[in-house]
Amino acid sequence: MTTPETQRLINKAEKLCEQRGARLTPARREVFEILAGQDGAIGAYDLLDKLKGAVPNAKPPTIYRALDFLQEQGFVHKISSSNSYVLCSHFDHHHPVQMLICERCGSVQEIQSDGVYDALRKQAQSHGFTVASQTIEAHGLCHHCQANA
Ligand SMILES: [Zn+2]
Ligand SMILES: [Zn+2]
Repeated sequence: MTTPETQRLINKAEKLCEQRGARLTPARREVFEILAGQDGAIGAYDLLDKLKGAVPNAKPPTIYRALDFLQEQGFVHKISSSNSYVLCSHFDHHHPVQMLICERCGSVQEIQSDGVYDALRKQAQSHGFTVASQTIEAHGLCHHCQANA
C-alpha cells in the first residue's frame, strides 16, 4: 500500500530525476517505494524478497543496480556496518551523513551536524587529507528501546 507520504517522496524523486536527466525505471522506482515505506534500514536480500511481489523475475543484480542508482542520486544511504540501506530523509541535496543506528530495533535516524562535519574535515586537513565525503555511523539504543529496556 502506498501512503500519501510515500507518494509524496516518489513524486519528489521523479521530479529530481527528470531535472537531472536520470531515468527512474520501474524497478528503481519500486525499490525506492519499498525503502520509503520502510521503518529503518533493510538489507539487500530482504529488499529483493519485497521487490519480487511487484517484479516477480527480480534477481540480485536488479536490486544492486537499482541501489547503485538510488545512491548516486543521493536518495538512499548505505549503512556499511550492517550492510543495509535506508532512504535519505532529505534527499534533495547532497550532505554529510550522520546516522544513529539502534542495535535493538534497527531503526535509523539521520542527523545533520555541520559542527561534526567541520571538526572531522579540520582534523583530516591537519593530516594532509582531503575529505570527499563522510558517513558517520553511531550505534546504540534509540529512545524507544531505552524506554523498554
Ligand atoms: Zn541523507
Ligand atoms: Zn530501537
